[in-house]
Amino acid sequence: MKSIIRKVWNETRTVKTVVLELEKNMDFKAGQFVMISIPKNKFGKLIPARAYSIANAPNDRYEIKLYIKIYEDGRFSSYFNQLEEGDELEISGPFGRFILEDSKLQSINFIAAGTGIAPFFSMYEFSNKNNIKCNLIYSERTEEDIIGKKIIDDGFSNNLSGKYVITSKDSRINKEFIENNIIKSNLYFICGPPEFVNDIYDMLVELGVKEEKIKTERYG
Ligand SMILES: Cc1cc2nc3c(=O)[nH]c(=O)nc-3n(C[C@H](O)[C@H](O)[C@H](O)COP(=O)(O)OP(=O)(O)OC[C@H]3O[C@@H](n4cnc5c(N)ncnc54)[C@H](O)[C@@H]3O)c2cc1C
Repeated sequence: MKSIIRKVWNETRTVKTVVLELEKNMDFKAGQFVMISIPKNKFGKLIPARAYSIANAPNDRYEIKLYIKIYEDGRFSSYFNQLEEGDELEISGPFGRFILEDSKLQSINFIAAGTGIAPFFSMYEFSNKNNIKCNLIYSERTEEDIIGKKIIDDGFSNNLSGKYVITSKDSRINKEFIENNIIKSNLYFICGPPEFVNDIYDMLVELGVKEEKIKTERYG
């Protein structure tokens, strides 16, 4: 379906926040993603479509929010340096089984690296509506790279527990760190680059978490 860029701004040095207004409502679940493509007439060539996680909870405003990391040599994301409010994008979806939909859960753990934080904003909104306790471990290179910092900091001073891990100064996440910084829960979500997701998955399993309680999304 068609969508219009309603708002776009620099979230960090390398990530843009993009708010899209959809032509019609999209029935998605917290954690799902959409495929975005740029209409061929915009730059006179076919640009490959890419997947982006929806970073807000389902709403009745026909709106979705995305956090898009710009790779200067990226075949898709680099065009976001030239896209502006009012530009049109084609979107399809929603897709994915990395979903939070059980409103009866008591508590959940989110573990993210980089833009892998995106789907957790949607899940966090869902959790707040349903009184689910959330814990977040979020790894970024520097403090300046933290996406949605205000939302997370507000959460940390309110009902969200957890920690940032800043890889330029903190030590790497290891099993002990995970053990000391997760909360008891029946569901663990991990999202980010494939190596990160695989490492954390293995650590959780070694800590005795049952595999069926771990959900993963790899941004490969
Ligand atoms: C389910 C899912 C959800 C996603 N959600 C998000 C999201 O919310 N936000 C987000 O920013 N991204 C997300 N991604 C990643 C996104 O889909 C794109 O892969 C990403 O934006 C890069 O696309 P690109 O075309 O700009 O870059 P590409 O042209 O694909 O290149 C990306 C970078 O990798 C380098 N590169 C390319 N190919 C290789 C290679 N073979 N080996 C080593 N390096 C290489 C390039 O030089 C460049 O720096 C998601 C991916 C998946 C699968």
